[in-house]
Amino acid sequence: MGGASASKSERFEVCVVGGGATGWAAALICAAAGRETAILAPPADFPLGRTAALFAGAVELLDWLGAMAELRPAAARLEAMRLIDDTGRLLRAPEVTFYASEIGLDAFGYNIVNRRLVESLSGLAQKEPKITHLEEPAAELAFGEDEARLTTRSGARIAAELVVGADGSRSLVRERAGIGMRRTRMAQSALVTTLSTDFEHRFISTEFHKAHGPFTLVPMPGSHVSLVWVERPVEATRLCQVPEEEFAEAAEEAAHSLLGPMRLTAPRVSYPLSVGLADRFAAARAVLIGEAAHVFPPIGAQGLNLGLRDVEALKDLLASRRGALGPDVAEEFHRLRQADIRSRTLAVDLLNRSLLTGMLPVQALRAIALSAAGGFAPFRRFLMHQGLAKTFREI
Ligand SMILES: Cc1cc2nc3c(=O)[nH]c(=O)nc-3n(C[C@H](O)[C@H](O)[C@H](O)COP(=O)(O)OP(=O)(O)OC[C@H]3O[C@@H](n4cnc5c(N)ncnc54)[C@H](O)[C@@H]3O)c2cc1C
Repeated sequence: MGGASASKSERFEVCVVGGGATGWAAALICAAAGRETAILAPPADFPLGRTAALFAGAVELLDWLGAMAELRPAAARLEAMRLIDDTGRLLRAPEVTFYASEIGLDAFGYNIVNRRLVESLSGLAQKEPKITHLEEPAAELAFGEDEARLTTRSGARIAAELVVGADGSRSLVRERAGIGMRRTRMAQSALVTTLSTDFEHRFISTEFHKAHGPFTLVPMPGSHVSLVWVERPVEATRLCQVPEEEFAEAAEEAAHSLLGPMRLTAPRVSYPLSVGLADRFAAARAVLIGEAAHVFPPIGAQGLNLGLRDVEALKDLLASRRGALGPDVAEEFHRLRQADIRSRTLAVDLLNRSLLTGMLPVQALRAIALSAAGGFAPFRRFLMHQGLAKTFREI
């Protein structure tokens, strides 16, 4: 990738570490706030089948950044979200479908191919004169009194007033800032791919809650869906290896032929799943965003939506600051992000674990909660607003 290259010991106001979707979005909002910004972003490698369902708040942020015009034609609207209890357990919840129209929206959001999203954001950053891109990872980071000092893998040195850790779940920034992360490896892997289908998805995303995790079909343009199939790791590996036709039949069976016969349209890739929550979301001169701060299993499509809300918080914070950036900005970011991140992590973790347990009281609670979601209109609207967590504001 292009962009100006940094000379040794060059000084910036902000240095973003990591070039996933949150890193590029953060670099763009820092530049929009008038800050000289460096981004250390080695090329990201997303398999073609990986998509993210992004809800209204995230879509508005992407619109504001100028990315949605390019992304919208290749994305699919999410007009309804259907949850089906397919655990086969004694106490099962009724099927629930949430319609965006119930809360006055045309769609909850869009399903967007991750690779396209990152390409679009990095393309915008390339045109931004306040952003300097170095296509290599940060190898070292130390925090001094007046600045943070970073060294790249090739030895280039960068100083910055504030570091944005967007470097994923094994974040170097988090580690060097002395922030721990409580992390639990789940006995689950997520298999992702895309499929073409005989029947139309009608812009409805369907999440089957199965005994080993969710099996989710998310609309893509035309008669295509992306699949996120959470299974035991050994079964996910097996499903990645069986012949394509056998896999397509297994997927159709798991979907109870909801969309008819299906065919694979992308390679299958499986990801081991874990849950992780940083002890703090900022320290010294560093703020953590995206998976550097919080890691979720893919249930309810919350991970990147939450990561983009981290970016949005940073946007609001920078809009209210003039002059040098320091530890007080980091501290304020931590304060702003606490409630949203902690509540979301807890909710997603509980929902996921409630699928895995055979305990009757837990099944009963899930069934009661989903029954209420199915029938009681104010509770339905509350849940939909919670799911969207739509808080975007213009600068
Ligand atoms: C199967 C699956 C399905 C999902 N579906 C959804 C969904 O529908 N909706 C949703 O909202 N979320 C979803 N998520 C979650 C979402 O994919 C993640 O939240 C999101 O990709 C995290 O983005 P990120 O930018 O924080 O991290 P990453 O995408 O992990 O990016 C981090 C980047 O940092 C780079 N990096 C690492 N170390 C360094 C270093 N030292 N120096 C420089 N760079 C470094 C890495 O190379 C990488 O490019 C899903 C997750 C999975 C696993």
